[in-house]
Amino acid sequence: MRRLSDLFSLLASLEGRPYPLYKGLGGAWQGEGFTLRFVHVQGDPFASPSVVEVRYPPQALEGLWVFARPEGRVAVEDFLLRTLKSRLRHLPPVGGSGHSGRVWVEVESPKILKRAGAHLGEGGLYLRFRVGLPAAGRRILGKEAERLFRALAEHLRGLLPELEGRALLRHVHQAEDFAHIQEGLAGRGLVAFVGEGAILPRESGVSQRPLRGAVPFLPPPALRVGFRVPHAGEVFGMGLPQGLTLITGGGFHGKTTLLEALVHGVFPHVPGDGREWVVTEARAQRVQSEDGRSVQGVDLRPFVYGLPLGLDTAFFSTEDASGSTSLAAAILEALELGARVLLLDEDTSATNLLVRDARMQALVRQETLTPLLDRVAEFKAQGISLVLVVGGVGDYLELADTVVLMEAYRPQEVTAEARRVAQAHPTGRRFGGPGYPLRVVPRAPLPESFDPRRGRKARVRGRGLRELLYGEEVVDLSALDLFEEAQVRAIGALFRLLERRADGKTPLRALVEGVLGEGDLFALEEVPELAQVRPLELGAAANRLRGLLVRQVAGG
Ligand code: ADP
Ligand code: MG
Repeated sequence: MRRLSDLFSLLASLEGRPYPLYKGLGGAWQGEGFTLRFVHVQGDPFASPSVVEVRYPPQALEGLWVFARPEGRVAVEDFLLRTLKSRLRHLPPVGGSGHSGRVWVEVESPKILKRAGAHLGEGGLYLRFRVGLPAAGRRILGKEAERLFRALAEHLRGLLPELEGRALLRHVHQAEDFAHIQEGLAGRGLVAFVGEGAILPRESGVSQRPLRGAVPFLPPPALRVGFRVPHAGEVFGMGLPQGLTLITGGGFHGKTTLLEALVHGVFPHVPGDGREWVVTEARAQRVQSEDGRSVQGVDLRPFVYGLPLGLDTAFFSTEDASGSTSLAAAILEALELGARVLLLDEDTSATNLLVRDARMQALVRQETLTPLLDRVAEFKAQGISLVLVVGGVGDYLELADTVVLMEAYRPQEVTAEARRVAQAHPTGRRFGGPGYPLRVVPRAPLPESFDPRRGRKARVRGRGLRELLYGEEVVDLSALDLFEEAQVRAIGALFRLLERRADGKTPLRALVEGVLGEGDLFALEEVPELAQVRPLELGAAANRLRGLLVRQVAGG
């Protein structure tokens, strides 16, 4: 193998030469204690920057191999990527055009996630990142490149020897304790745990940083539970029971903030995030109304039944769903994908799918919608829990197993009081369901659904957290809870696998679970920008493909 020192002299010798000569860097270079490989060399300084992969052999890793659970390995990877990212901030500034001299390590959120940028495997530790090779226009800035790579090599050599062992352990223990609680929730009859002292609000709507000066979370005594975890001893917090939970309270008292924390709590957080001890059942999913979305072949009858003119909702497809039909579809799709807990906020849910009050029941005789309210008993009977934020709709009070009242960011447990209020103020409404049972009909996608060439170009690209460019189609992912653009990219890459596996017979749930179980993101594409998603997100993204073609299949 060529030596890294030869790379430096090669770079210097390229000074002033045409950019494509950088292609000669391709392949591996042996450094001190690691190998550096150019996986992809960009064609010009404005193109997507080059991908570099560094491998540390197993003998360089020592204690890094020791972890109690598989989650520990992901946490080690996550920690190393973050460490590399912060070390590389100290690289010397390099001039030039386009992306010249920029080095990217992809970690965008405080979630501990499996990412394609780091991998601990039999071959050792692999780290991937992007480097913009320096140039002035189309001319190579070889001296600058040499300086950049010498400095980079210094950082890479020091990465493992200078690791902060204590911080690494804290990171790993956090992930392992999180996994322990998450797996223990169902056995304790809970859907979520919110640790005492947690900081739930963020600095701003676009920030992932904790709000400074926030009121720490204090569990109401009636809901306080403890979990004995492998590393942190016994941790205490609010345990939200299975069944129907209402989170209520006046405006601006922290209802949405709590729900939001639960949404994030399906993934572990780094120490210091404030939500480290917010743990939500792994198969929880937020659902919301999404005007204008596409829905393909969903049996909507549990919520929409008996449309005028005999229109059929057993195989419901539309390119432009309404607030209520989109929410109905989102709920049924989530159940189809195996969700066990649904999280809803009144603010983002069509009112007519949440409730129909006595007056409307009296006035409107030909009702086609069954509100969620009249399905609650069936959800419970099927073991599906609901966590619902309500500020304006009181009709759910008597059905709730747990009512949490937020007052100035302090949760109170008011279930008994809510029942008394419900009795003292009857709604006068009559039970409006079930016209049709709560039943999910699984759908099997056809492979064409995932063909990015349906358009002209097979482009797959993330656009922020909200959009995936897949072929010619822009898939709107804004209703999904994604935390890194790398998750959007992963969805695009996984669609390609779905294309191979879809056969018009295998249900969507089995397909998405299959491709996620099949391989590691690291092996999927040789790029750093892929991050872990759950089957629930991958399936939800597939459901938003306008070109999705499905057949309903038996079972469910
Ligand atoms: P609601 O949904 O009840 O109307 P939100 O959850 O949207 O209220 O919160 C309202 C505001 O209060 C937000 O700006 C949020 O950042 C802030 N907030 C939420 N929780 C806390 C807290 N624990 N400490 C301080 N501010 C908070
Ligand atoms: Mg709110």
